[in-house]
Amino acid sequence: MGIIEKKDIKSWNQEELGEFLVTLGEKPFRAKQIYPWLHIKHAASFEEMTDISKKLKQKLSEVCELTVLQKVQVQCSQIDGTRKYLFALSDKNMIESVLMRYQHGNSVCISSQVGCRMGCRFCASTLDGLVRGLTPGEMLDQIYRIQEDIGERVSHVVIMGTGEPLDNYDNFLKFVELLSDEHGLHISQRNITVSTCGIVPNMRRLADEQLQITLALSLHAPSQEKRLKLMPVANKYPLHEVIEACAYYFAKTGRRITFEYSLVSGNNDHSEDADKLASLVRGLNCHINLIPVNPIEERDYVQSSPQTVVNFKNKLEKYGINVTIRREMGRDIDGACGQLRKRWIER
Ligand code: SAH
Repeated sequence: MGIIEKKDIKSWNQEELGEFLVTLGEKPFRAKQIYPWLHIKHAASFEEMTDISKKLKQKLSEVCELTVLQKVQVQCSQIDGTRKYLFALSDKNMIESVLMRYQHGNSVCISSQVGCRMGCRFCASTLDGLVRGLTPGEMLDQIYRIQEDIGERVSHVVIMGTGEPLDNYDNFLKFVELLSDEHGLHISQRNITVSTCGIVPNMRRLADEQLQITLALSLHAPSQEKRLKLMPVANKYPLHEVIEACAYYFAKTGRRITFEYSLVSGNNDHSEDADKLASLVRGLNCHINLIPVNPIEERDYVQSSPQTVVNFKNKLEKYGINVTIRREMGRDIDGACGQLRKRWIER
């Protein structure tokens, strides 16, 4: 007998699970029993599924993989309750996820890939390149494990951890479907934000799906020339095309675009940069999030001073632009995205 590729049971919706069970000679309604074990009770093994026959559990464990991430390390912020998790996947790759506690609820930032191939100059996640994309089940389980760990409900999800979600498009889309599915965690699409460095064709595809999730665009520069120096992806997808894709997303979904702008001292934080940025986004229904860049060891980018950040914000506001300075969460626990995983690999 050859080796059978095991199916990831957590990456199907209830209907697909039913169809699969039929191929095993089961009645499709069994899916209604098994699905909540996976997506509501977050069972860590088939064994736990008490209302399923021993025979079926046996069969399932032979033909399916049950994705359960192993918690390897948790760092807890003493300042604001932020928790940073390092998880091991079944193939021993490591990923990180972050829980942030806000007044409006618990928000989890998940990874969408192991590593990243986008090459943004200031980012720690991309230094060692891409290993692979995560499956929908692996994306979901980051949230499930954190919910089990804290014993509280997660209400908001941002796909802003390691990886480029639109470089793992099909798995990302399935993940959103399962996350917002009424039979699972049932998180409102309006509470889901996906962040992209600007993969134009997939931004447009996503717009055509007409979901209610928020699209965040990592902008970081007001001109193609400056953006190219920070983000190699701009070679392939120039700024004007990215902005057009944002306008298209708004036209198709009615969802206001978020622009993320990391301020790098002496690089993109000049007063003229704010002017250019204002004219770049003019007419777009958007919100700008300013983030003082989080310095990483491997690069010599420096954070803009608090005064420069405030000046930048004030300037944008004068143009009538909606702008906030992102509150830094978990300052005391290894800030920048990808640093926890990188340190672990290096050890
Ligand atoms: N690949 C996606 C999502 C992951 S990165 C994207 O590019 O949007 C999430 C956000 O963190 C992006 O806006 C990214 O540009 C930003 N980021 C990465 N490293 C950073 C750092 N060191 N300081 C500030 N922001 C950073």
